[in-house]
Amino acid sequence: MKWSGVPEVATQRVMTQALATQYVFGGGSALLAALGADGPWWDRAALGALALTALAAGAVTFRWGARWPRPAFHGAVLLGTVLIGAGVVQSPDAATAVSVGALTTFLAMAACFFFSLPLAVVHLTLALGGLTAGLLVRGDVSLLTALSIDAMIVGLSVVTRGLVLRASSASRDPLTGLANRRGFDHALHEGMRAVSRTGEPMSAALLDLDHFKAINDSQGHDAGDRVLRQVAKVWRKDLPATAVLARHGGDEFALLLPGMAGPAALDLVRRIRDQYPDVGMSCGVAEHQPGESAAQLMRRADLALYTAKATGRGRCELDGGAASTLATDLAAALDAGSITVHFQPILDMRADRVVGVEALARWTHPERGPVSPVEFIAVAEQSGLMPRLGEHVFRTACAELAALHAATGRRLRVGINVSGRQLADPTFPERVRAVLAETGWPAAETVIEVTESLVEAESSTAVAALHELRALGLGVAIDDFGTGYSSLSRLDTLPAVILKLDSSFIATITSSTRRATMLRSIVGMADVLGLDVVAEGVETPEQDALLRTIGCSFGQGWLYGRPAPLPDVVELLDRSDRIAASSR
Ligand code: C2E
Ligand code: MG
Ligand code: MG
Repeated sequence: MKWSGVPEVATQRVMTQALATQYVFGGGSALLAALGADGPWWDRAALGALALTALAAGAVTFRWGARWPRPAFHGAVLLGTVLIGAGVVQSPDAATAVSVGALTTFLAMAACFFFSLPLAVVHLTLALGGLTAGLLVRGDVSLLTALSIDAMIVGLSVVTRGLVLRASSASRDPLTGLANRRGFDHALHEGMRAVSRTGEPMSAALLDLDHFKAINDSQGHDAGDRVLRQVAKVWRKDLPATAVLARHGGDEFALLLPGMAGPAALDLVRRIRDQYPDVGMSCGVAEHQPGESAAQLMRRADLALYTAKATGRGRCELDGGAASTLATDLAAALDAGSITVHFQPILDMRADRVVGVEALARWTHPERGPVSPVEFIAVAEQSGLMPRLGEHVFRTACAELAALHAATGRRLRVGINVSGRQLADPTFPERVRAVLAETGWPAAETVIEVTESLVEAESSTAVAALHELRALGLGVAIDDFGTGYSSLSRLDTLPAVILKLDSSFIATITSSTRRATMLRSIVGMADVLGLDVVAEGVETPEQDALLRTIGCSFGQGWLYGRPAPLPDVVELLDRSDRIAASSR
């Protein structure tokens, strides 16, 4: 808030309570003054009537003030000015007039608390003008006495304004000038109260800048700060007046949209985001549901943000929107058994032979066509379908490979991706054992692929599950090593036997000598630790040649074969076997 703006602490509820209290105490005080005054009964009666009007105004404000539009508070303060002016003129004696006039302090406080500075000054000028004129018209109060009351009221106004600004700054983010988390929580609770009273819709959104950390790391914190200020500025410009935008911390913003239903809120955030394409942003939106708490609403907005980020960033998702439709469709696909498994060859680079495959889930949506696993795995995680989906892929992969072995004698070691949600389930190792027993597939030919981030998130249960699986004879691979989540200490704590280097890392090894050096060191370190290394995403012969020179043991990528249904993979393997045999 700027010094001249409307104070943030002046919420509808606080204004209602303050004004009602002032009217009640002002009216009560005037009533006492009327009772205690000397003079003609009709003057005292008139003053008493004004006091009763003030008491009634207090009751009305208390009962209905929270529903008034903000401008109505100007009317309420003006009514006070009129009542006090009339009371001063009607007072039977000078002492009573001064005592009634002193009630102008209530008006001054309200004006400094509720309104922007220019409007507060207008109210104050009217109130002091009315008071001074009223006192002078009486003829029994001197100009200096009137001015002394004015001076006291002006002093009190200045102090009130200062305190109000100080209280407001505790709810403000100094960098962007937006509300901070505290200010947002305050607005959210106000919004919740309004919703329960009026039944109007309300939506909340969480906005997260994509790759903000990279800006901070590569261009410095000043550049990061500039981006945050810029975002605050452009967003504030396009939001409706009732919206509350807050910086929730770091690069996360929260937005409250009173009076707006979910789809409209989603449209709005999408529209604003699309206007400023240079700042990548993911958003999660949720509409308030009847009976829901503020914390539940924000949790759903957070879930929607999680889905938006997991499905490729730069997206906006509405909780209960497209993502949950996709979850329903995914559940139906699982019921119908239409989730299939493709297999991607893994090459032993020293023997130049395919020795294994990675099982990858595939889903062709009846209307949308093929859906990326990155997207539907995120949806499955969020909607609780992951254990079913994971087990389906596991069973399908083992059954198909066991059938292949039975028919041809060919045995391929299989890598199966397992999500953190599955590992967090204490029955997971037992389920794995059951699937292996049911399909007849050997544990020794099975590798569980886990990403470090997920293991980290679920921690002790997950690590215990991995140890149990190792004890059953399965291998454990750390997947996507070399992405944002890699940590060396994890190599030590996880019972892994394989390290899978992420394709984003392999993509740079032929263009950057530093990367090539890092690769050499990682392969050396893995060797010392007794870990096999699989290079993922090998696409070019140059990458293949460099990996061989460095001594990387396994490779996986389009160069050796794309993920495909098992019969296609087998055909490819048979063909390369024939070529190898004929060249011998
Ligand atoms: P991942 O486990 O790292 O799988 C390797 C991904 O790299 C696959 O993507 C594969 O198609 C892709 N890939 C392989 N070779 C190349 C290449 O040469 N160049 C490039 N650019 N990409 C290559 P896909 O199939 O889209 O799967 C993406 C991710 O989804 C997987 O990453 C895995 O984390 C997850 N996922 C897939 N299926 C399952 C599943 O059944 N369960 C779980 N929990 N996650 C799965
Ligand atoms: Mg994998
Ligand atoms: Mg991977």
